Amino acid sequence: MTRRAGLALALPILVVAVTDLGAQSPHGAGSTSRTSWLDEYREPAGRLIGEAVSNTFAWQRLAVLTDTIGNRLSGTPALDQAIAWAVTEMKRDGLENVRTERVMVPRWVRGRESADIVQPAHHSMAMLGLGNSIGTPAGGIEADVLVVRSFEELDSKPAAARGRIVCFNAPFTNYGETVRFRSAGASRAASYGAVAVLVRSIGVDGLRLPHTGALQYSGDAPKIPAAAIASEDADRLQRMADRGGRTVVHLEMEAHFDPDVESANVIGEIRGREKPDEVVVVSGHLDSWDVGAGATDDGGGCIVTWEALRLMKMLNLRPRRTVRVVLWTNEENGGRGGLAYRDHHRAELANHVLMLESDSGVFRPLGFGFSGSDAARETVRAIATLLGGIGASQISNGGGGADIGPSVQDAHIPAMSLDVDGTKYFLIHHTQADTVDKIDPVEMAKCAAAVAVMAYVVADLPGRLGQEPRH
Ligand SMILES: [Zn+2]
Repeated sequence: MTRRAGLALALPILVVAVTDLGAQSPHGAGSTSRTSWLDEYREPAGRLIGEAVSNTFAWQRLAVLTDTIGNRLSGTPALDQAIAWAVTEMKRDGLENVRTERVMVPRWVRGRESADIVQPAHHSMAMLGLGNSIGTPAGGIEADVLVVRSFEELDSKPAAARGRIVCFNAPFTNYGETVRFRSAGASRAASYGAVAVLVRSIGVDGLRLPHTGALQYSGDAPKIPAAAIASEDADRLQRMADRGGRTVVHLEMEAHFDPDVESANVIGEIRGREKPDEVVVVSGHLDSWDVGAGATDDGGGCIVTWEALRLMKMLNLRPRRTVRVVLWTNEENGGRGGLAYRDHHRAELANHVLMLESDSGVFRPLGFGFSGSDAARETVRAIATLLGGIGASQISNGGGGADIGPSVQDAHIPAMSLDVDGTKYFLIHHTQADTVDKIDPVEMAKCAAAVAVMAYVVADLPGRLGQEPRH
C-alpha cells in the first residue's frame, strides 16, 4: 500500500515533467482516459508490427541457428556454440550490455539405445530414452511386459509388475494430463519391482515418432531405465497383452550422466531512458533435446523475444524502462538457468516489472497468458488491443514459464507467456521432427511483433505495470 500510494503521488510530477503523454495515465479516470493513454502507443506499435512482418528475418535467423548448429542439449559443444553465436549476433544487432551469466548444468548423455519386442515375434520399436534416465546394464534388460493404461491400473495389480518391463499406454489427451506418465512412471513402476519402463509418447499421434522428455526419479524407489515409444508400438504391445500369452522386450540403453558442465544464460538489453533499473524481461530457452533441431522448442521462442529488442533498436524506440532478453540454458533437463538467474539477480528482482517467456512454439499468435494483479491485467488487456490487426489481442489467465518461474515466485513478478495456435506443437514436441520447416515465417514474424509491442508498451508506461494510480 505504501509503495502504491508513493507512486501515485510521484507519477503526475513525472508525467508533466518529462513526457508528452499528457495528463492521462493508464486507468487515470475511467475508459475515456484509458483510450487516450493507449493512443500514444498506436504509432510505435504500428511501426514495430510493420517492421516485423515486412520480412522473414526472424525465421531466417532460426534457420541459421538450427541448420548450422542443430540441437543443443545442456552440456554439449553445440549449446556452447549457440551461446557464442547469440552473443555475437546480439552485439551485431546493437543490443546493449550483451553478456553471458555462468550456470553449471547437468550433462546427460543418451548413448546408443534400442528397444525390441523379441517374443512372440521380432519387432524393433521406435524409441527414445527419457532424459535423466539411467542406462541398462551392458547387454540390456530382457523381461516380460506388463501393459497398463493408468497408474490406477498399475496400483490394482501390485504383484504383476515385479520383474517386468512396465509399459504405460495412456492415450494422449493433453500435455498436463499425460506428462505424469513420462515424469513419474519410472519410479511408480519401480516401487512395485519393475525393472524398466516404456511410456507411450506424450504427444499427438504422428507417424511412428517417439517423443523424449525428462523424467524425475523419486527418492523412495530404485532408479530403473525408462524410454518413450511411438504410439504405434504402444498399441502393438497393448494388442499382444490383450490376446494373452507372453510378450518379451529387450531394452538396451547407454544413458548416463557425466559431471556437470559450465554453461550460461545469454542476456542483451535496450536500456531504459528514464528508469533503467526497472526491467521487463522477455525470454526463451536456448537449450533443447538432442533430437530434431530444437526449432519449435525453443529456438523460435528465443528468436521472437530477442526480435522485440532488435526491432526497437532498428526503429530507435527506447522505452522508459529497460527491456532485457534472456536466452535460458538447461530448461529441458534441469531448469538450472532459471534458478541461477533468480539467485544472481535477487537484489533487483523487486525491480522486475514483467517477465515473459515464449516456450509453446511460434505458430499463429493468439495473444498472451498473464498472471498478475487485476490492475495489471486491465492494462495488458488494453495494450493487447493494439495487436488486433495480427490476431494476437487475447489475454488468457495463467501466464508463466519454467525458466521465469523461480524469479516470478520469489518476487511475485507479473508473468506472461506467448499464446499461439497449439495444433501442431505436440505433434513434433521433443521429436526428430522439430525442425524449422514446421514454422511459417509470417506467423513467426507476427509472434515477434506481438512480443515487441507488449514489451515496449509495458516498459514505456508512465506508471509501473499494476501500480498505476487507481480511482
Ligand atoms: Zn521448451
